[in-house]
Amino acid sequence: MPAIRGEQIAALAITEPDAGSDVAGITTVARRYGDEFIVNGRKIFITNGARCHWALVVTKTDRDRGHSGFNLLVVEKGTPGFEVTRTLKKLGMHSSDTAELLFEDCHVPVANLIGEEGEGFKNLMWELQGERMIAAAGAIAGAARVFEYTMEYARNRKAFGQPISNFQVIKHKLVDMGTKIASVQAFVYQTAKLWDQGEYPVREISQAKLLATQVACEVADEAIQVLGGHGYMSEFPVERAWRDARLARIGAGTDEIMKEIIAKSYGL
Ligand SMILES: Cc1cc2nc3c(=O)[nH]c(=O)nc-3n(C[C@H](O)[C@H](O)[C@H](O)COP(=O)(O)OP(=O)(O)OC[C@H]3O[C@@H](n4cnc5c(N)ncnc54)[C@H](O)[C@@H]3O)c2cc1C
Repeated sequence: MPAIRGEQIAALAITEPDAGSDVAGITTVARRYGDEFIVNGRKIFITNGARCHWALVVTKTDRDRGHSGFNLLVVEKGTPGFEVTRTLKKLGMHSSDTAELLFEDCHVPVANLIGEEGEGFKNLMWELQGERMIAAAGAIAGAARVFEYTMEYARNRKAFGQPISNFQVIKHKLVDMGTKIASVQAFVYQTAKLWDQGEYPVREISQAKLLATQVACEVADEAIQVLGGHGYMSEFPVERAWRDARLARIGAGTDEIMKEIIAKSYGL
């Protein structure tokens, strides 16, 4: 696979202007005519949408069909009818592009169908578990880097004739950061191990994603406080961490959706 070898950039196009958390509510339609699907619809907030070589586009055979009519189609850039209509400006994650895509009578060969016809929803939900696991691991690893940087800064920054790390209030902030990171990191590793052993731990993955991404935001926010005015400046890395961390509480399923999934797993 060229994408896995790092030779091509892929995008995953699920979200639409009128359907984000409610994936079953998408309206991009792919109707089959012989050896081809004809795709019509719009996607929004698509990471790598502008620079990708191809997008995995989540479609339905019919707008009124629910989970059973989903197809995942590889649509290559340059296919007539596949257009990048806008690159969106955003708060953080400036090293990746986020685009709006349009599909207008876009002909896609049936050979580009990933998985069985009609089974797209199930396959997508499986993929999202992996994405959430990666989001959890990335968030907590980022938080650990911010914590280390902040501790070092506090040891070197002097106020009232002493390092600010001597002040109990600063020490406690650092202790809270380190303690939260250590506990969530352990849970993320434990969940990754279950996944690695072939289990499908949806509850734990959702909990790991929820917790790790929230802790990453809390840590970045406290880091800015410890750095004071420097923390707010772009030349210091915590400002970027604060902006970048925020996305993970929205992308690949919001905090609220994670809580819905966890609640369901408890039979609530
Ligand atoms: C920078 C960025 C990159 C992204 N990259 C991609 C990408 O590559 N591919 C892709 O397909 N999508 C991508 N997304 C989209 C992202 O997955 C969605 O934004 C996210 O799933 C939420 O959907 P929404 O924005 O439509 O919010 P909505 O679904 O409109 O939700 C709005 C609010 O209502 C809450 N809410 C919704 N339903 C419920 C419920 N049942 N119970 C309680 N609360 C609820 C939400 O939690 C949220 O707080 C990206 C988004 C961003 C910001």
